[in-house]
Amino acid sequence: MNYYESGVERIRNIDANLYIEISKKRYEEVRSKGEYEADANLIAEYYRRVGVFLQFISKEAASIYIGMDMLLGFKMEENEWDSFLETCPNFNKIDIMLMKLISIHYLRWCSLLDARDNIALQFPDIYEPMIKLFERGGGRINTHHHELVGGFGAFSRSIHANRGDMTPFDISDVALENIIKEVELAEGYLADYKNGNLSENNCIRCGNKLLILPNLSDYGYQWYKIKCETKDCFDKNFS
Ligand SMILES: [Zn+2]
Repeated sequence: MNYYESGVERIRNIDANLYIEISKKRYEEVRSKGEYEADANLIAEYYRRVGVFLQFISKEAASIYIGMDMLLGFKMEENEWDSFLETCPNFNKIDIMLMKLISIHYLRWCSLLDARDNIALQFPDIYEPMIKLFERGGGRINTHHHELVGGFGAFSRSIHANRGDMTPFDISDVALENIIKEVELAEGYLADYKNGNLSENNCIRCGNKLLILPNLSDYGYQWYKIKCETKDCFDKNFS
């Protein structure tokens, strides 16, 4: 199988049921806080990979709407959207424009890889984090003003080249499952704490003690920081 064929196979296998009617639901009805946290990691890794690519082609920034193929000067076909729906009919039921657009550009990138495009060949996996995000059910992404938004929070709508300076994010299945697990552990810990159960919990990453630090915002909003004793380890806010 060439790149394009295996790309089509992946996109066709994205389960439309994960996305039907999803835009009518609140974020927290669709995915857990841990899942959104894992989603954010995938998006951050995509931004990093695009950053490396932008540095390579000496460009400062690119909008989330721009395909990597377009950055190399290729133009979309006139009937691209229609033919995409013919190729991947599951997307007829998925009403998320940006997810469709990124999938189209992913397939165009696969075609460039098959055509042995010199630059594309140096970035064969640039779309991997986003396709993985879509496959896992985290494809509900949208833009609002200058931001890319979803249940994961927000990223800037334009991707800057300096993103490429970041340390790579581990997007292996194991790493993503661990992110979900540690958020679930913290949520359970906090629920027990609120019920007056003061048992101890340990960090999944390093085994040291997790601390719950209650906070009150200026507006009287109660929130909690759950933090590993180890420096620069688990550290997240919950409410
Ligand atoms: Zn730790």
